[in-house]
Amino acid sequence: MINVSKKCIGCEKCVPICPFAAIQMIDKKAVINEACTLCGACVQVCPVDAIEITREETAIKDFSSYRGVWVFTELEDFHEKNKPSKKLRRVAFELLSEGRKLADELNEELCAVVLTDKNHAFEKELGAYGADKMYLVENPELADYDTDVFSTILISLINRHKPSIALYPATIMGRDLAPRVAASLYVGLTADCTGLSIKDGLLLQSRPAFGGNIMADILSPNSRPQMATVRPNVMKLIEPVPGKQAVVVKEEIKIDKNLRRVKVLERKITHDKAGARIEDAKIIVSGGRGMKTRDKYKYLEELCRILGASLGASRAAVDMGFNEKSHQVGQSGTTVSPKLYLACGISGAVQHIVGMRSSDVIVSINKDPNAPIFNVSKYGIVGDVHEIIPKLTQALKNRLKA
Ligand code: FAD
Ligand code: SF4
Ligand code: SF4
Repeated sequence: MINVSKKCIGCEKCVPICPFAAIQMIDKKAVINEACTLCGACVQVCPVDAIEITREETAIKDFSSYRGVWVFTELEDFHEKNKPSKKLRRVAFELLSEGRKLADELNEELCAVVLTDKNHAFEKELGAYGADKMYLVENPELADYDTDVFSTILISLINRHKPSIALYPATIMGRDLAPRVAASLYVGLTADCTGLSIKDGLLLQSRPAFGGNIMADILSPNSRPQMATVRPNVMKLIEPVPGKQAVVVKEEIKIDKNLRRVKVLERKITHDKAGARIEDAKIIVSGGRGMKTRDKYKYLEELCRILGASLGASRAAVDMGFNEKSHQVGQSGTTVSPKLYLACGISGAVQHIVGMRSSDVIVSINKDPNAPIFNVSKYGIVGDVHEIIPKLTQALKNRLKA
């Protein structure tokens, strides 16, 4: 609530300062109308402290019944002895590795949540990466991801067990699921966190803001669970502990078939020809605007074939139509962490660097010796990429023949 007291001397200093034009002078007194957003700017300029804002204190809620760090695990299809099967995506282990630290600091359990048509003894792998418990919902309806079905189940589980923290992968699935759950439970959600820690018992969620130029630290003190998504390849894996198994807690949840509004007719995998998703690739050859044309960018395909690499792209290269968005590396693309990242004709804008700087070895080719990409590169080649790539490709071919 905002109020102008009798102290007002009619100096009008507050009028131009209001960003919402909410103050009018009536009978030489400031009068504030309903356009006011309680931003407080006028309070600071009033020379006689005539403007008072009273804010309702947020009720302090008791969250002591909320315990446990949860990781939503995503599964992917693969073929085992020519039979379709499912396995845990690597990002599940990355989240568990990070979740383990948080759970230890809070002295709470680390729990993995698995929604699947069939359990494939996931408790062994999950346990090895630190999970104490695995909440398992098994049902043939869960063979394919569906927003309505998965979010309804997850909301039921959260309401039943009340975790203090819930982490999701910032994958296509996680980015679809987590906001739905957050909106339904009326809790906050921080997307694409690059750092997680505990501060005064709360989850401190750090993420780049303003185009990657500053880091924002976010707390959710007034709601539970505290929820965050984390991109693949951002958190480091811990050493797995062989032999440790998560305790399996089977959850019975009735799934109403009418919940599903989407029917999956066909699945097409858009991984590159080498078969690897770019976020899982061990070697990436990436091209930028310096590749000049789509045809010249395609030279990189041969190099990829020889190296067994996946083909990446800067946003400029994607915008120029050299490759699909699913191959874009960076802040608004994919975060990658290969053993080798070869950047060809990429300047090294901060939005690109944040997506590839955790690669083990970065090699860059750029004709500009001052290109920022060299600041994060282990090896830098200053020169024309159109001369160097054919020579490099040929040299590798010769080596393979020898
Ligand atoms: P440029 O910056 O134009 O660099 C081209 C480089 O090629 C130059 O360094 C030049 O010296 C070199 N070159 C030219 N010719 C040759 C040659 N013959 N031989 C050798 N070198 C040559 N970008 C991303 O990549 N990924 C993202 O996810 C992303 N997200 C973004 C999100 C936001 C909110 C914003 C604002 C921007 C984002 N960007 C992203 C864009 C980013 O800021 C840069 O514009 C982009 O990365 C530039 O791509 P580039 O390096 O290919 O092109
Ligand atoms: Fe305007 Fe902000 Fe003052 Fe409200 S609090 S009257 S919006 S300056
Ligand atoms: Fe009144 Fe203070 Fe506004 Fe001046 S700045 S008109 S004293 S409310």
